[in-house]
Amino acid sequence: MTVFFDVDGVLIDYNERPRYEAIDLLRAMVACGQNVFVWSGGGKDYAEHWVRKLGLEDLVTAAYAKDPALKPDLAIDDVPGADLGLLGTMIVTFAHD
Ligand SMILES: [Mg+2]
Repeated sequence: MTVFFDVDGVLIDYNERPRYEAIDLLRAMVACGQNVFVWSGGGKDYAEHWVRKLGLEDLVTAAYAKDPALKPDLAIDDVPGADLGLLGTMIVTFAHD
């Protein structure tokens, strides 16, 4: 299964602090054998920057600019109503912020 994680609001908050719960979810999905990608509306370079900064290079298959044409199986996003994945979109929110 291909799982795409958003950057802003998912892997980092809007103050650029890591969201460790989401990063743990990413690690767990890789451990379960899922094929994990990172994408961002900020573009490919921005997504790659955060993969490196968060130390996820060995876990993430590739980073992309967000493009609905890529159609992941599952998307992890912070925007309610986002329809990005073939199976659907898991919305993660700032329950503790
Ligand atoms: Mg976002």
